[in-house]
Amino acid sequence: MIASDLRSGIERLGDMIAAAKTIVPFTGAGISTECGIPDFRSPGGLWSRNRPIPFDEFIASQEARDESWRRRFAMEPTFAAAKPGRGHRALAALHRAGKVPAVITQNIDNLHQASGFASDHVVELHGNTTYARCVGCGQSYALDWVKQRFDAEGAAPDCTVCAEPVKTATISFGQAMPEDEMRRATELSQHCDLFIAIGSSLVVWPAAGFPMMAKNCGARLVIINREPTDQDDIADLVIRDDICETLGPFVGN
Ligand code: NAD
Repeated sequence: MIASDLRSGIERLGDMIAAAKTIVPFTGAGISTECGIPDFRSPGGLWSRNRPIPFDEFIASQEARDESWRRRFAMEPTFAAAKPGRGHRALAALHRAGKVPAVITQNIDNLHQASGFASDHVVELHGNTTYARCVGCGQSYALDWVKQRFDAEGAAPDCTVCAEPVKTATISFGQAMPEDEMRRATELSQHCDLFIAIGSSLVVWPAAGFPMMAKNCGARLVIINREPTDQDDIADLVIRDDICETLGPFVGN
């Protein structure tokens, strides 16, 4: 059911939140646009500016790694300045109230952690761009280290332990999904009574399978997104409006 207007949507969402015991939010890039981080698919989004570099290409080509890191450094002022928005803060308030055990996110921006979720309670399906990892041995690196090496050598550095490429700790197209996170997201989706998909076009799979999974396991499904999604038909409530306006009333004090 699509909410006829924002006010009735917020009211109905409030009733569903009050009635729910276990709420699992599932977030996409739309929750962070208020914070100055562009999404992928809106006009002017990252997709329209840069073709994503698939994992195979990153591994095979030094040039692709250099380009990938140049793009990441260019985004650093944006990521560094971003603070949690009303959507993040509303979910953190529900977490503090004991209703939200954890958040499943496709985002890589660390803003759920910055809003008060402990890292253990953020299931990052696509990793995290605020640090780097060796694709071979998994050794972590700070972005500052990568930048210093890049500036000194004029090229993206390799791991000092095993000499494999160092990449942001994110999951690229063509890269295997993280097993532990997929398992946790599955458990959360199967054991909640309210699942809220927020700011995702629901076109990136397998992540987009979780709203449907929750619905099939008996949860009520809410979709908050300003554009239609392919799963609107199965949702109990669709709020096709701004996330910040919709979740603002749930931020609390
Ligand atoms: P997407 O770009 O495909 O979809 C975002 C959706 O949010 C769009 O449908 C858009 O209409 C909607 N939206 C944007 N701002 C909104 C607002 N204020 N209110 C209501 N709706 C709003 O994003 P996705 O589904 O998350 O998939 C993109 C992939 O790219 C993700 O897997 C993620 O890893 C990555 N990504 C992450 C970030 C981030 O971490 N902030 C940013 C861009 C891309």
